Amino acid sequence: NTSVLAYCRPGYENDTANELTTRYGEAAIYGYPVSKKQSGFALYHLYDDTQLENAITQFAVSQSIFPRQLVAVFCAMKDIEKDDRVGQVLEALKEGELPYSIFGAIDVEYPDTEDGKTLAKFCRKFTVPLRQALRKAGWLTAKENAGKPKLHIFFESFENCFIGYTLPNYASQDHLGICRLKFPSDAPSRSTLKLEDALVNMLSSKQQTRVLRSGGRAVDLGACPGGWTYQLVKRGMYVEAIDNGLIADSLMATGLVEHHAADGFAYKPQFGRVDLLVCDMIEQPDRVAKLMGDWLVKHWATHAIFNLKLPMKRRYETVTQAISLLVSRLDALNDAFSVKVRHLYHDRDEVTVTIIRTSEDEV
Ligand code: SAM
Repeated sequence: NTSVLAYCRPGYENDTANELTTRYGEAAIYGYPVSKKQSGFALYHLYDDTQLENAITQFAVSQSIFPRQLVAVFCAMKDIEKDDRVGQVLEALKEGELPYSIFGAIDVEYPDTEDGKTLAKFCRKFTVPLRQALRKAGWLTAKENAGKPKLHIFFESFENCFIGYTLPNYASQDHLGICRLKFPSDAPSRSTLKLEDALVNMLSSKQQTRVLRSGGRAVDLGACPGGWTYQLVKRGMYVEAIDNGLIADSLMATGLVEHHAADGFAYKPQFGRVDLLVCDMIEQPDRVAKLMGDWLVKHWATHAIFNLKLPMKRRYETVTQAISLLVSRLDALNDAFSVKVRHLYHDRDEVTVTIIRTSEDEV
């Protein structure tokens, strides 16, 4: 009765389930996926309960595409009664065998859906007495300890919940696996949050320093009205902004932006190369991935960050095919690359890809 629980954007349950089935299948961790449309999560039930720890340490959530969080579920509760829910959860924990003798923190969560939001207040309130009770029972450290496993109680509804854990190096540290960013009021479009999400959550701080150098150069394909360019300019980069549309005057006023009304598929960098290529053009994923590969192979760009717009169906397959083709081209080069693909909180029907060129000694 163990499973891996993945939180995801509502509408992406099937894609998440496909991803888990493929990844765990490749690692010979056998099971079967269960997902409900628009529920905001998917489950992968393991055939062999002893594989739970192996499954949850197979890959970090940051190395997956659609999951926002991956929880190792060791207990599922059904038909919880209204009175004394804390007592019932404690009882269930006592009855089952706890995978760890002590946890460093707890998080009480719910799906990121309209129905799920009705549970938010209850989950917040429920956390306080549960935390106290767990401390009293000796199952939770007296002070929060981020270095230890975290206990997650995920309420699917008021009556049903899953109890599981995450491990520090494999999990998202964010409540619900969601990192909410504040929209900067002077940015030209809400799209700006997609690139900020990628820069903050997909690049390590070392990579951020290296890729986003003040005085460095970038190209932004499909730049208008300029939300992505805004993020780069904010970090002191010079940007060649390519788009037939209109770019915000406030960006032109910085003196850091050159706007070229041109086709992103035909454009070449003004000075032969740039540090960073970004691209948010609405085009077929394989066309965009091919274009990004061309720039990286030709050394027109050192690094690339781009979005792939997702089709309606077979989204996991479409993304992995486009990326594996691109990665095989990069593998033929002498350089090493760190490649990540994520369906970020601020993404809609699209995923974000970061490709950071790492010198051999840094790998
Ligand atoms: N990232 C932008 C921002 O933050 O403001 C929003 C980009 S919007 C989703 C897509 C843009 O790609 C549109 O402005 C469109 O004009 C542009 N675009 C689409 N195809 C293009 C092409 N072949 N060459 C250049 N721009 C293109």
